[in-house]
Amino acid sequence: MNRSTNYGKFFRHPLTSLIQNPLLYPVQLYTIDKRLHFKLDREEQKMAHEDCIFCKIIDGDIPSAKVYEDDKVYAFLDISQVTKGHTLVIPKEHTKNIYETPPETAKELFSRIPVIANAIRDAYQPLGINLLNNNEPVAEQSVFHLHVHLIPRYGDGDGYTPNWITHTEDYTSDDLQAVAKAINEQIKH
Ligand code: AMP
Ligand code: ZN
Repeated sequence: MNRSTNYGKFFRHPLTSLIQNPLLYPVQLYTIDKRLHFKLDREEQKMAHEDCIFCKIIDGDIPSAKVYEDDKVYAFLDISQVTKGHTLVIPKEHTKNIYETPPETAKELFSRIPVIANAIRDAYQPLGINLLNNNEPVAEQSVFHLHVHLIPRYGDGDGYTPNWITHTEDYTSDDLQAVAKAINEQIKH
């Protein structure tokens, strides 16, 4: 069988018309692009996992002061102890930050937080608690495995000072509606 015979057979395949249809090229390119990205994401994830200090803590390769553990979630004291009982809650499944977190992982993570917050309250009787989740360096994320800080509050000067500048006067209600609409239009489930 020579090369041209093969070639001829290939182009007689019923899918040939689809493959040859230039109108479908964008669809094909999109699919290839998605597959490539998926593959790269998996490789990046694997590398991230290998280098990740929090994954090492979950695996017991780095010591931690464990507060709570189940099959999906791990919680341990933040080494910086901004206030007494400052705890980090993390999913066992490595995910870089909130942008890359599957809804199921978020659900599992956040479902444990009230239980842990109440345990901190029962242990140390703080007056309140702040939850904090930093994403990307500009937002002060320094460890790239999703984590929620639970920072018990004991009063002014307890070590935690959220810096919060309000801009209420800079926005009319129309401005607020326009901002809300811009975000709403990007919601993807
Ligand atoms: P973030 O800056 O939001 O990414 O928070 C990362 C937190 O991880 C910081 O508050 C660190 O103090 C904490 N941290 C880093 N390494 C460890 C460790 N080995 N054990 C406990 N906490 C850690
Ligand atoms: Zn990790």
